[in-house]
Amino acid sequence: KPRVSARVGGISESATLAVDSKAKALKAAGRPVIGFGAGEPDFPTPQPIVDAAIAACSDPRNHRYSPAAGLPELREAIAAKTLRDSGVQVDPSRVLVTNGGKQAVYQAFAALLDPGDEVLLPAPYWTTYPEAITLADGVPVIVPTDDESGFLATVDQLEAARTPRTKVLLFNSPSNPTGAVYPPDQVKAIGEWALRHGIWVITDEIYEHLVYGAAEHVSITAAVPELADTCVVLNGVAKTYAMTGWRVGWMIAPSDVIKAATNLQSHLSSNVANVSQRAALEAVSGSLDAVAEMRTAFDRRRRTIVGLLSAIPGVTCPEPEGAFYAYPSVKGLLGKEIRGVRPSTSVELAELVLEQAEVAVVPGEAFGTPGYFRLSYALGDDDLVEGVRRVADLLGEAR
Ligand code: PLP
Repeated sequence: KPRVSARVGGISESATLAVDSKAKALKAAGRPVIGFGAGEPDFPTPQPIVDAAIAACSDPRNHRYSPAAGLPELREAIAAKTLRDSGVQVDPSRVLVTNGGKQAVYQAFAALLDPGDEVLLPAPYWTTYPEAITLADGVPVIVPTDDESGFLATVDQLEAARTPRTKVLLFNSPSNPTGAVYPPDQVKAIGEWALRHGIWVITDEIYEHLVYGAAEHVSITAAVPELADTCVVLNGVAKTYAMTGWRVGWMIAPSDVIKAATNLQSHLSSNVANVSQRAALEAVSGSLDAVAEMRTAFDRRRRTIVGLLSAIPGVTCPEPEGAFYAYPSVKGLLGKEIRGVRPSTSVELAELVLEQAEVAVVPGEAFGTPGYFRLSYALGDDDLVEGVRRVADLLGEAR
């Protein structure tokens, strides 16, 4: 018998974390690596949130197990925040607090899928989705999109991929890795299509507050309220409040799904750390001023990075409208000679960029679409400019 089970042995390492750790290892070895790999804001967590956590540490109530589904105050605050930000009324009993958005992703698929159930997954997709689907014995059905369509899946494409086994559509707007934001009428059309065919929607709204220019985030649950009975909303504090390390997310779902997912969580991980929950309570019930400031900085960096990347011959960079990622196509450079080698895939090109330019980017293979790079622009303006300049100098040598 194999030592490691097929189920778990089949999971691949998170490519984004792999790039990040390789970059950190090079940095530790003294190389001046600039990292565009990690999907986390470079800002510190706002002080009132940190203060709430410090106070929570000294409160003996937080030293004990609390309800697996989350602190009642936090579930209420998340329901209130959902009304404030999405315009959708939900009962706190339909909120399950999870160990980061990642656990919500995993539990949503685990609670909905039976073996062989198909999940429509528009690509480029966040690298965790297919793993979570497969672990739940589901089958990811990839719906490809590209830079020419602005990385948006259409109802026609979804309809073409639908089969009698289709149970769920995974919807992620603003998108990691592309930064694409679905326009409100397309959100509504997709929601109505799902409703018409009895397809569940898992909507990952973790980047809801990071939208730029004329783009607008509309929750699919607000666009099509009738979806409430067949929809799971995923969200968390990580990206909005610069709280990636605190590990607080949540899912909002119909009561039968919440009950099932809570039972799973009660055996898997129990309550999320109380101190982190108290910090998240402060975050979601406080104002959105800090995120407005971060959004201004991200928007400035977004314009800078798109301008710099687009100026590199062989690179085309659609303008992302949300999140904090640029997703340029590097197809025009594949097969060309750069410093004596001919990278033929975006993985090979990313390796060359890391070795020669000392810049870390994530190749599109990680997101189901070879031929692209993902660059997070959640890093300081100076590093951003210097990093892209190094990439431009290297790629400019392509012949
Ligand atoms: N969903 C998307 C699209 C993400 O990009 C991430 C983080 O990278 C998450 C969910 C989960 O975030 P966390 O587990 O840190 O809350």
